[in-house]
Parts: sequence; C-alpha cells; structure tokens
Amino acid sequence: MDIGMKNKTNVDELSLFGGSPTFEERTLHVGQPNIGRRERLFERINDMLDRRWLSNNGPLVQELEKKIAHFLGVKHCLLICNATIALEIAVRALELRGEVIVPSFTFIASAHALQWQGITPVFCDVDPKTHNIDPVKIEELITPRTTGILGVHAWGRACDVDNLNAIAQKFKLKLLFDAAHAFGSTYQGKMIGGFGDAEVFSFHATKFFNTFEGGAITTNNDHLAEKISGMRNFGFAGLDRVIQLGTNGKMSEVSAAMGLTSLESIDEFINTNLGNYLTYASELEGIPGVRLIVYEANEKNNYQYVVIEVDEKAAGISRDSIVNILHAENILARRYFFPGCHQMEPYRSNFPNARLLLFETEKLTQKVMQLPTGTALGTPEIGYVCELIRFIVKNNAEIQKRLNSQ
Ligand SMILES: *Cc1c(COP(=O)(O)O)cnc(C)c1O
Repeated sequence: MDIGMKNKTNVDELSLFGGSPTFEERTLHVGQPNIGRRERLFERINDMLDRRWLSNNGPLVQELEKKIAHFLGVKHCLLICNATIALEIAVRALELRGEVIVPSFTFIASAHALQWQGITPVFCDVDPKTHNIDPVKIEELITPRTTGILGVHAWGRACDVDNLNAIAQKFKLKLLFDAAHAFGSTYQGKMIGGFGDAEVFSFHATKFFNTFEGGAITTNNDHLAEKISGMRNFGFAGLDRVIQLGTNGKMSEVSAAMGLTSLESIDEFINTNLGNYLTYASELEGIPGVRLIVYEANEKNNYQYVVIEVDEKAAGISRDSIVNILHAENILARRYFFPGCHQMEPYRSNFPNARLLLFETEKLTQKVMQLPTGTALGTPEIGYVCELIRFIVKNNAEIQKRLNSQ
C-alpha cells in the first residue's frame, strides 16, 4: 500500500505495506463528535419548537440538570453555555481574587477563566505519573494573595483530591476543579462532580459527551448553587428584580436536547472508547519509546483520550516528527497540551520565568500526544494508525535522514 507520503515527507519508498491496499482514504481527527440516536434528538427538537420555549431555563435544561445530578450523585447541576464561562461564573461565585494556583499543563481556558476575572493564575507543576497538579509543589506557591486552587482532572483521571482538600483547609483556600475531561470518571469510587467547592464540566462538541457547546457547574453547596443560578441569568431573582452582578451563561434548549440524547448513549460512548483504548494498547505494544498512559484499574475513566508519551531517545524520533508524519497521512494526532499555558500569551510575557518552576510540565509538553478515538473510529483505523507509528519508529534513522535533507 502506498502510504501517501509522496509529496509530503518523501518517505513513501520506505513503504512497509507493499501491496496491501486496504485502508480507505479519510481523515482521522482527535475529538470527532460522538452522536447519539438522531431520531430521539429530532423528536426533542420538534417538541421544543412546538412549545416555542428555546432558552431561559426551559424544560429540557431542567430535565438534563436533574439527570446529570443523579448520574453524578451530586446535589446540584447548573447547566451553562460552555465550560469557560462556567469556570468564570464559579470563580466569581466562590469570590476568588488575587492569585489562584492552577497547573500549566491544561487547556488554556483554565488559565484564561482566571485572568479574564482579573485573577493572576499561578502555575504549578504536575506529577509526571498522573499529569495532574502536584500537591507537594503547591505550598511554596501560596502567598497572602492566594485565594484558591483550581485543579484539573487531566484525561479524566482525578486529581489527588484528598491532599488538595487538606492543603485548601490548612490555608483556608477555595478548591475548584476543572472537570472538563472527567464526566463519568471516579475518584475513590465516587463520581467526579461533588469534590471541592464546585466542579466544572465541558460538553463541547469535541468532548466525548456533548451538547454542541455547553458545560455545567456541579456542587453540593445549596447557597453556592443559588448564587450561580442567578449569576448565569444576569443576576435576576424575579421578573424585574436583579440582586447581583451577572452574565449570560444560560444553556439553550437545543443544546439540552443534544445532552439528553447523548446521555442516553453514554454507556455506548464509554464502552467504545474503552474498546478503542484496549485496541491501541495491544497494537502499540512493543514499539520502543511509545507508551500509552494507563489509568487506575480500580477507578472509572471515560477513556476519551488516547494519550501517548514519546520517549525520543528510545523511539529514535521526536514526538513532533511523528505528529508531522501522521498529519501528512491525514491522521490528525494532536500535541495536547502544548506548549503549556505558561508559554502562551499573556502568560508568557507576564511570567517569563515561570518555566523554571515547571520542570515536569516542560518535559511532558515535549512528549505527549493524543491519538484519534471515539465512535467515529473502528478497529481497522486504529490498526492503521498503530501500524504507521510502528513503521515510523522502525525506520526512524532513514526518516530522520530524509527529513533533515529536505
Ligand atoms: C475543553 C476544555 C475547557 C473549555 O471547555 P469549553 O466548553 O470549550 O469552554 C476547559 N478546560 C479544559 C481542561 C478543557 O479540556
């Protein structure tokens, strides 16, 4: 099989696949949406149109909030238009100000949500084993201006919640979680959603459970939930009564319709992700320098990310070269999280020395990549992706030579 690199990386002559033209040409993305039963979605949208109730805490939003709260075993679920606004609202509702400690190894929205509210994100290094904020490195970052910790459950793996709680209590800090990756995952057997003061989920199209755009704040705190409920609706507390500063963070009914439909298929989404993950695990086995990260066997994970760490020395080729070749083959692997929030603006200019404290983060941003998964993919595609990676690593010397001579 011609692996199609002719005009791209010029390594097609190396073809490992000589004469086995089996793979149908198409692009494989990271984060292709999962879509549930569309007839159920259309029914809901039809009813919604008949009702002429399209937004403003409609019946579909209320139904989805109840179902998610039940699914997560948390008292309150407040649906929001997206997770970034949800983080901003949560940050305001918790009265965070000054400085908040957050990992740099996260999607930029975690940092932006703080900065956008006039709060300084103070970047903390991560534990290379879990990719999550390292509790051991938090205390040294606490100053008189610190008001909170924003932990991120990277790849759906829970942060070290117990130790974060202990630090938060000791220093009287608020504890918020960016749970954008962690819908359906557990910590010590309990669903993520009820930890810290509040947790924030993303239901963006690229997350495995989506409402097109959307997010949620979950909490067991009644007072906080009421405050958030007002804040997402301009601070209204009655028809003509505004009692606090607010914004427009409402989720529309059509998004909730998608969410209810996605929720009906969530087991299927997770099982497909798990199956894909296991296929990757077996197909990648034995490729030097290419390691699939593993999750705790005693916890639930949604397996929405297939996260690879490339050890450049052992693989004989860099993560970036592998990603470039995959891209040339229409496999849009991604370098999440790259280059780390502290290397992006405005933080790069604001904190030019941040990287000195972010040793593990810097290393991870050079070696982590995501491979495509989700219901849009099957075993043949995964086999192809893995075969290609095996091929690239096996022929690393020749590939390097050719890449260098271009
Ligand atoms: C996706 C994501 C967000 C932002 O979610 P949106 O719903 O797109 O605003 C925030 N944090 C992390 C870690 C994410 O992956």
